[in-house]
Amino acid sequence: MPDANRQIVLDQLPQGDRLTAQHFRLTQGERPSPGEGEVLLRTRYISLDAANRAWMQGATYRSALNAGQVMAGGSLSEVVESNASHLAPGDLVFADTGWQDYAVLPAKRLAKLPALEPVTHLLSIYGIAGLTAYFGLLECGKPKAGETVVVSAAAGAVGSIVGQIAKIKGCRVVGVAGGEAKGRWLTDDLGFDAAVDYKAGDLRRQLKEACPDGIDVYFDNTGGPVFETCLFAMNNFGRIACCGAVSQYDGAAPPHGPRGIPGLIVTKRLTLRGFVVMDFEAQRERALKDLAGWVADGRLKVQEDVIEGLENTPAALVGLLAGENRGKRMVKVR
Ligand code: NAP
Repeated sequence: MPDANRQIVLDQLPQGDRLTAQHFRLTQGERPSPGEGEVLLRTRYISLDAANRAWMQGATYRSALNAGQVMAGGSLSEVVESNASHLAPGDLVFADTGWQDYAVLPAKRLAKLPALEPVTHLLSIYGIAGLTAYFGLLECGKPKAGETVVVSAAAGAVGSIVGQIAKIKGCRVVGVAGGEAKGRWLTDDLGFDAAVDYKAGDLRRQLKEACPDGIDVYFDNTGGPVFETCLFAMNNFGRIACCGAVSQYDGAAPPHGPRGIPGLIVTKRLTLRGFVVMDFEAQRERALKDLAGWVADGRLKVQEDVIEGLENTPAALVGLLAGENRGKRMVKVR
């Protein structure tokens, strides 16, 4: 049926339990039509992000999700019909379409993306993951050559890019990731100096061995116990870029926050800076130019993890939260 619009609805919000594919249902609606100043978009690739799960916990930098709505999420989409002069059929945009085949959105919020191959790079290295890694590390972490940088969720979309940029900047880089295989990938393929496995126990000892000179910059993607362990290993005047807290998104709320706050922050004169990638919108072009240069000269490897089929999006998000992915996970819709 050419006018059908498959949609994945968030059927129930998890209530302190872990997210499963059963929290979602697949429905079929009608293909919408664009009004004045609007565009009709066809979804090509849905971006899967750890934050998709955080949005189910309540309001964040966006309003909280509700049961019964089409699951929210960003996608790389193609313009099918346009009632706006700056967008034409065939143009690609990044848009908050939700998990569905088609969406109608106001065109004024959308910008045409450059045509490049593979188009998936528009979601990974030149999308939110790449820009978050770039700005979070360089603007919040402020690493200097010779310093030790630790990044958590290091084999994920953001973390794998953070570590490589830190290497480009001349730092010693240590990744925290789950499992030996991910650790080997970080050191052997991406050039990290060391990797530690937070699932293998005694993270404190592992970090001490991997960071004999302590930690100068910690890029925090996880919060929770990894954050706490890194906090105790920070050097005086160290910087912590607070990017996200994936360990806190799925399941019951943690019983207490990390120990060491605020005592260690004071005595070590640490700087913690939280950020959202949109804060750096004005510097986007500079970041994209640097990232493209590093990709072109082979210093930055782009790892993507593409799952096929809209119907598999719920399971793909559940898998991301469980650590199935290496690099940027996305779902190919068409
Ligand atoms: P991702 O890193 O590709 O995937 C999430 C990874 O987190 C998984 O692969 C898993 O790898 C790890 N993980 C899951 N549970 C964990 C736990 N309990 N402890 C430690 N690691 C755990 O996802 P992403 O979308 O790129 O997001 C990474 C972080 O960046 C998230 O915190 C997200 O909220 C944040 N973010 C922030 C911004 C911003 O503007 N501030 C923008 C984008 C993303 P393992 O196998 O290693 O467990």
